[in-house]
Amino acid sequence: RAKAAGRSRFRYFEQGMHAQAQKRRRDQFDLRRALENQEFELYYQKQVTLPARRLIGFEALLRWRDPYRGLILPDQFISLAEEMGLIIPLGEWVLHQACAQAAAWPTPWRVAVNLSPVQFGGGRLYEAVRSALALSGLDPARLELEITESVLLRETEETMASLHRLRELGVAIALDDFGVGYSSLGYLQRFPFDRVKIDRSFVASLGYSRESNAIVRSVVTLGTALDMSITAEGVENEAQCALLAEIGCHEAQGFLFGKPEPADTVSLAPSC
Ligand code: C2E
Ligand code: MG
Ligand code: MG
Ligand code: MG
Repeated sequence: RAKAAGRSRFRYFEQGMHAQAQKRRRDQFDLRRALENQEFELYYQKQVTLPARRLIGFEALLRWRDPYRGLILPDQFISLAEEMGLIIPLGEWVLHQACAQAAAWPTPWRVAVNLSPVQFGGGRLYEAVRSALALSGLDPARLELEITESVLLRETEETMASLHRLRELGVAIALDDFGVGYSSLGYLQRFPFDRVKIDRSFVASLGYSRESNAIVRSVVTLGTALDMSITAEGVENEAQCALLAEIGCHEAQGFLFGKPEPADTVSLAPSC
């Protein structure tokens, strides 16, 4: 009896594996089809100066509008797109779309685009950025590329060279989600970022946690000394905003100033 139960448990396990593999194949198929059918859209979230709250630009955030499931957030599909290599063409689409849309905005506003670490291995990134700028006519000074520390983990000559080459195009480089994962203050010294974005987990605990307070202060102090702009992510309330301004953080982004919004409402945005 025990043997039979074990066998049936195993069969159950096998069926589970099979179902998982099937779901994965279906998800891959859906994602490929989504790119072919142009089901992706960019939403944009405001970035403002502190303490004046002057609107200076937007971060482009990818959305998938699935005809059946509705709007899907990047956490649900980016890692699969990365595993499939689909992030390369998808990321190129994001670059072209963001540059084209930003080119139609009032000129001082800049646009920030998130890059996947996988795009750095592809060897097509430089050409993709160059052609997105050329085709849209967007001033390179208005484009900012956001990378995460995982790009720097493989701190090879190639990675550094490719960051420098991108910068020579005249675009800015921002270090995103700073403080999570393996980021260390040392990164700020090793590569000349134009901007550091403090992860929202630190902003969320600002005012409650002495550690978060100290970390935000150190990043602002060191970054400023190294000529970088500091942006706080995920600012949701006035208390956080006041503390950040008091600390001397230069810019902020978060629901307090605006949620990510579809492209067609952006050009109508009043100056915050
Ligand atoms: P991220 O680059 O750190 O973007 C900020 C995320 O925080 C966005 O989530 C945004 O909607 C959310 N957020 C902004 N303000 C607040 C706030 O006040 N409170 C809270 N709780 N959340 C806030 P979203 O749009 O779901 O994007 C998640 C992540 O997906 C992004 O994090 C980025 O790493 C990635 N991503 C988005 N678009 C792209 C893209 O085009 N390419 C790649 N490779 N990754 C992307
Ligand atoms: Mg980002
Ligand atoms: Mg971030
Ligand atoms: Mg993030």
